[in-house]
Amino acid sequence: MRLFTALLGGFLLSLSSAHAQKTYVHCGRLLDVRTGRIQPEMTIVVEQGRVAAVQNGYATGSGADKTIDLKNKTVMPGLLDMHVHLEHQTSKTNQLDEFIQNPADVAFASLEYARKTLMAGFTTVRDLGGSGVNVALRNSINRGQVVGPRIFTAAKSLSGTGGHADPTNGYRQDLMGNPGPADGVVNSPDEGRQAVRQQYKNGADLIKITATGGVLSVAKDGSSAQMTEAEIRAIVETAHDLGLKVACHAHGAEGMKRAIRAGVTSIEHGTLMDDETMKLMKKNGTWYVPTITAGKSVADSAKIVGYYPALVTPKAQSIGPKLQATFGRAYKAGVKIAFGTDAGVFRHGANGLEFAYMVEAGMPPIEALRAATVYAADLLGQSDQLGTLETGKLADIVAVEGDPLQDITTMQRVRFVMKQGIVFKQE
Ligand SMILES: [Zn+2]
Repeated sequence: MRLFTALLGGFLLSLSSAHAQKTYVHCGRLLDVRTGRIQPEMTIVVEQGRVAAVQNGYATGSGADKTIDLKNKTVMPGLLDMHVHLEHQTSKTNQLDEFIQNPADVAFASLEYARKTLMAGFTTVRDLGGSGVNVALRNSINRGQVVGPRIFTAAKSLSGTGGHADPTNGYRQDLMGNPGPADGVVNSPDEGRQAVRQQYKNGADLIKITATGGVLSVAKDGSSAQMTEAEIRAIVETAHDLGLKVACHAHGAEGMKRAIRAGVTSIEHGTLMDDETMKLMKKNGTWYVPTITAGKSVADSAKIVGYYPALVTPKAQSIGPKLQATFGRAYKAGVKIAFGTDAGVFRHGANGLEFAYMVEAGMPPIEALRAATVYAADLLGQSDQLGTLETGKLADIVAVEGDPLQDITTMQRVRFVMKQGIVFKQE
């Protein structure tokens, strides 16, 4: 019913936007994420999906103009999660699912995950890898056919044979085959270039590589280097030629260093990051996307007997719990941090948990909120459109009860969501 209301609301609003109808959003408290100040009694004027003005006091329009009452809420820009996987969600049956689910099954399941993500206040996400169904999901959300966040997708991740993103890891040998660049598996710089161009052709907005082992792949090692620096360099150069940034999954320090030197935009997870790696990231301006929630949740799931395949359980136990402390050290060292959760590794819609984990590890609440707004927009290269509520930017607006600077857990209960001028949630 709420979904229907949201769709209908969107439909009406898009109809009326042809007549340049304005929406006046009355904000009891408006958080300026840049300055960290909360301004009382403000109005955001929204017109044709964008912020037309931000004014002191409660302004109203005329005629067909609308007013939205958020006088008892704290209002801020829509949130950005820089690491999600909208095609999947953790379950005991994940390994079997690969053999029994058709792309259409993945697509229908992803609709629910996308809707939950938006309802949690995340108006923009990076999808860091799936089968490629995430490209169609992005397109259908952009067309307004289904409800979800604005997606920047990596389509299918790239890795070496047997690496974290090899799609046939753990299969019996006659089913393993020999996946190649078209499937995201590369074993030379040339194949790296081919794989990037293939993802570009498939509709990717960015490239995701896995420079080291990972926790949930059915493979023994969770942290050793799995791509050569020459391979990563070829991938980054080709991606940059096509206007794409490169996000790099890494747990071990050697793989991270190779990727940072080769020019990737962000390190994802970064679990075993050492001081030297942090220095290198600061020198190169590399972003860190911590995904603490994923670390904690895989460690929790590993406690359930049989939840993961036998090769995965020890990795989840050893790598998962280390992420939060790494994040704390990286923050203190001055590494640039953007908000990311790895939702899908845990249930979609619980992305807001990450804020509390960041604060618990020593980051001030306002910095955690900046990581999910201004900084994430910077990482995406979308600072002119997203991340703050300023005239001309997209009208992505969320609201919570209380003051998130005093109680960061309120970010787990987002009450109002507007994406590009359309209201999807109002409680
Ligand atoms: Zn991930």
